[in-house]
Amino acid sequence: MRVAKVWIEHPVLQLDQVYSYDALQLPAEKGKRVIVDFNGRQIVGFVDEVAEVEDPAKTLAKGRPLKPILAVLDENALITPELFDLAKWMAKDTLSPVISCFQAMLPSKLKPKSSNQKIKMEQIAVYVADHPHLTPRQKEVLDWLKQQGPTGLSLWRKQSPAITRTLEKLGCVRLDSRTVKASVPQAAQAEAFLPLNADQQRVVHEIETSSKAVMLLHGVTGSGKTEVYLHLARQVLNQGKQVLILVPEISLTPQMVARVKGRFPTEVAIYHSALNNQQKYEQYCRVFEKQASIVVGTRSAVFMPFDHLGLIILDEEHDSSYKQDSLPQYHCRDIAIHRAQYFGCKVILGSATPSLESYARALKGVYGLTELKERVNRQLPVCTVVDMKNQSRSQSGILSDELKQKIAERLDRKEQVILLLNRRGYSPLIKCGQCGETLQCPHCDVALSYHKSINKMKCHLCGSEYPLITVCPKCGSRTFAAPGYGTQKLEEEAARLFPQARILRMDADTTSRKLAHQTLLEQFGRHEADILVGTQMIAKGLDYPQVTLVGILNADAGTARPDFRSVEMTFDLIMQAAGRSGRSSTPGEVIIQAFDPNHFAVAAGSRQDYSGFFYQEMQYRHLGGYPPYTYLIALTFSDSHPERPKQSAQWFAQALRQTDAFKVLGPSDLFKLQDRYRSRLVLKSKNLDQMKAVLSQVLEEYRSQRAQAHLSIDVNPLILD
Ligand code: ADP
Ligand code: ZN
Ligand code: ZN
Repeated sequence: MRVAKVWIEHPVLQLDQVYSYDALQLPAEKGKRVIVDFNGRQIVGFVDEVAEVEDPAKTLAKGRPLKPILAVLDENALITPELFDLAKWMAKDTLSPVISCFQAMLPSKLKPKSSNQKIKMEQIAVYVADHPHLTPRQKEVLDWLKQQGPTGLSLWRKQSPAITRTLEKLGCVRLDSRTVKASVPQAAQAEAFLPLNADQQRVVHEIETSSKAVMLLHGVTGSGKTEVYLHLARQVLNQGKQVLILVPEISLTPQMVARVKGRFPTEVAIYHSALNNQQKYEQYCRVFEKQASIVVGTRSAVFMPFDHLGLIILDEEHDSSYKQDSLPQYHCRDIAIHRAQYFGCKVILGSATPSLESYARALKGVYGLTELKERVNRQLPVCTVVDMKNQSRSQSGILSDELKQKIAERLDRKEQVILLLNRRGYSPLIKCGQCGETLQCPHCDVALSYHKSINKMKCHLCGSEYPLITVCPKCGSRTFAAPGYGTQKLEEEAARLFPQARILRMDADTTSRKLAHQTLLEQFGRHEADILVGTQMIAKGLDYPQVTLVGILNADAGTARPDFRSVEMTFDLIMQAAGRSGRSSTPGEVIIQAFDPNHFAVAAGSRQDYSGFFYQEMQYRHLGGYPPYTYLIALTFSDSHPERPKQSAQWFAQALRQTDAFKVLGPSDLFKLQDRYRSRLVLKSKNLDQMKAVLSQVLEEYRSQRAQAHLSIDVNPLILD
């Protein structure tokens, strides 16, 4: 008997084991999706090992014969053996169910889930064989197809309806169907490679000759890192190998895509979240069928089905969008390094502000380190910090006099300005002037923000909107006001001060539609606007030569967040935003507005001093026992009922405290998010493997109990606030 082991995602239960099914009748094979019956439900599963089993005892489940597989959904395995093993490794690494890892890997249309979508098919003509008695014209048409390869039916018929039909009847050509092919990327305008400067050549040499598999390329903004990537990619492609370039969610700008396509006009696949499901599926197939040898993509592109990968580049390696914040909570960097090990290829981590973890590893020699300390045009922008405590009260308190004056100068000179404020909406909170009451989202424990454009209050966690209230619900006073400011108010203020300026705003509210993000950036790139106002979205990766002034507003606001990484994020933001200024021959300037100008993240940021920041922040991490000196695992228990997360967290904490192998912090107070109550435990240790081992044991016990709160596990969490 043939027995197939099948992974299943159950709609209700959290299962993490294989189930045996009878695979005698159907061609179930490892890596294909199948439909099976599970407790009377038809579920889509994913096949693991299939084996011949002689021992009749092993073909029974609870004394009954195995149920048959009901259907096999795929003609071929969906993933390579390497990816199959990767999923299992990833499940251990992130303490997630194996099935969730397969799902993370595959594009939506191929996910082994209960709701599968249809894949578009098209008819094609395929060359089969020559024929001894063809007319010259028939032979010409057949040769055309032979050269062209499998061709869509309409294009085939166009050659000549009569002849194509004859050739099919003669058996020279057969009709077939295939999944719709990705539109071959328009041959981009070919662009020449720039000759590398001496620094870039040194870096390429260091990377090529290093014995380290992972190289950290620390290069200031505008130092020509991207150019280095493209050169390395070309060399690897010339050896007949594949290249993967990973970029953060938001910086897969048309600019980056155009640059890569320009150098490699035909072989590029692009994979990111703005593609629809069909497009993602098509790009996945292009890589599987070896039609694309270079992939540029965001986080999930790290799972593309390569089979002879020669290089992985992870640009802006510190970026938080590399971490997936839902199950399985993997970090793209870890996956990239693991895959590179398998292929024996290099990984390049590039950044102007490496994560503390990566830089510390590079200093310890775990990674190789190579640096680009100067901009290609040799000029870093001049930074000025403005102390907002000293701004006169009569001002609106948004734009300082210094910044206003500099903006006016740039507008006169027809240059462009970027204003960054990491807070969207009009006002961050709504507050009673009498009793201080703030309005909270009824579904989440956070304050509501005022959005003037819709004249409503909005929750930034769950997105709910509420009509504006003008009377305090607590004391009845009519002094309800919206202090502070977000990007909407900043835009309004800029328009009031500079009525002649054309202003664009880019934040989560203006970019919710697909491609809106791209459209805005293209407009700004064509200089159809003078000022770009936005959140951290605009700090990354943009290369607009006409931008000569960047204003960073409320630069130190982030340092007030309780999260241990908030200072690092503040510093990164200042560095990255400053990096947008003065990227061509015209020198750039940066104005940093802060209430605490002496904060070391602000001071080091204004000096563009990464290592100064690094050593100081590392001291704090050391004192506080935070990463990279320790490892953390966050456990979040949630339920619609408040008692359950509390009890589950307490049970878990107690079970973990039986061992004193690591610290258990919490349970935290209950907090509400989207109508679910949550409680959190944080585990802390210097030994991650040991911590995971203990945790998996307790986890098994926890999952075997019924009526527990939902538990989500985050190994190496990025944010803990
Ligand atoms: P980074 O990725 O480090 O921010 P880029 O590779 O985008 O830097 O380079 C910054 C700018 O300098 C770009 O406009 C790029 O075209 C230009 N540049 C990079 N390398 C060279 C070079 N070797 N010669 C001339 N221009 C270069
Ligand atoms: Zn009040
Ligand atoms: Zn809410």
